[in-house]
Amino acid sequence: MVKEIDGSIGEGGGQVLRFAVSAAALLGEEIKVYNVRAKRKPPGLRPQHIAAIRAVAEVCGGVVEGLEVGSSKISLRPSRPRAGRYLFDTGTAGSTSLVLQSLLPVLCFADGVCDVEIRGGTNNPLAPPVDYIQEVLIPALRRMGVEVELTLVRRGFYPRGQGVIKVRTQPVREIRPIEAVGAEVREVEIFAYSCNLPDHIVRRMAATAESELKRAGYSEIVVKTEVLGLGDSKASPDPGTGILIVARLDNGLAMGFDALGEKGVPAEVVAERAVEDALSQLSTGAPIDKHLADQLVIWMALAKGESRIGVGSLTSHTETGIEVLSRLTSAKFRVERRVKGGVEIFCRGIGFGRGS
Ligand code: ATP
Repeated sequence: MVKEIDGSIGEGGGQVLRFAVSAAALLGEEIKVYNVRAKRKPPGLRPQHIAAIRAVAEVCGGVVEGLEVGSSKISLRPSRPRAGRYLFDTGTAGSTSLVLQSLLPVLCFADGVCDVEIRGGTNNPLAPPVDYIQEVLIPALRRMGVEVELTLVRRGFYPRGQGVIKVRTQPVREIRPIEAVGAEVREVEIFAYSCNLPDHIVRRMAATAESELKRAGYSEIVVKTEVLGLGDSKASPDPGTGILIVARLDNGLAMGFDALGEKGVPAEVVAERAVEDALSQLSTGAPIDKHLADQLVIWMALAKGESRIGVGSLTSHTETGIEVLSRLTSAKFRVERRVKGGVEIFCRGIGFGRGS
């Protein structure tokens, strides 16, 4: 039976599409998505989404239709995820992290090790920076039994991208549920980075974040910086900068709060944006940050058993993820308000395994 998903539900953006194709590829069910990105301007597919769908289709030996820029309808008829070596190129500064977001569950359920290179942007607005994937998402996935290694080969910023990440996955038998409801911050790490920009930008960003976090009462702060320039093989061709604040928790997980530099925005303001986000989410005492929550819901849906996570703020991305996965799988989600703010998300996963 062909499943159909209305791409305009909830957030009505790229994520509906990414979850829909991942779930369909895993479940081996044909899917049609219509009203693709109906709530975005312009609506329809962008090159970045095409790259993600193409990647999923290739790994699962799927037949896909409707993959043109601006298209409002796509369909995917998947076969089984196959192990191997793959290369995917967004062709633009399209986010490598978002390609990975749809691809990773499929790679993990292939019949062997997958080695994947993805080219494009590594630090994009409105997408997880590669540093966030490494420091925040991957530790949470390891907790769930997902074995994935990511290497950043070269950073890629808008407009040319040309960043490179390499990902290796081991085949997963089943996903363990995650339980993360409360935790204390053990240490805060500030990571400020830049490519092809004067050194003082990173210094100012790091110093602002450090002094504001100290003022807010955090004393265990580690500061790391990366300043790449012409001649560094890891440097992007275009200039770019950003900051990631990682709160490492005593339960072994981490929360991430990041901001990307923009032309005309002082380094101090970029740092303040990340700190503000950190302080507002940390004040709830919930151990899962708002972006990690929407990135985890698919894994919670696949896990064997009940997951439970405390999240500082419930975004419409997370609500949309829950909605799409509830429609496409038999996972049962429940959301409850927390007394100190934020929510708890419960999910009884389907216990997905290879050959399910
Ligand atoms: P759209 O189709 O909506 O234009 P899109 O395909 O780029 O957009 P979204 O549907 O907006 O994607 O999803 C963006 C994803 O990136 C979400 O998983 C979100 O949690 C994640 N994300 C966005 N900003 C950040 C950030 N600053 N740090 C970490 N993750 C982020």
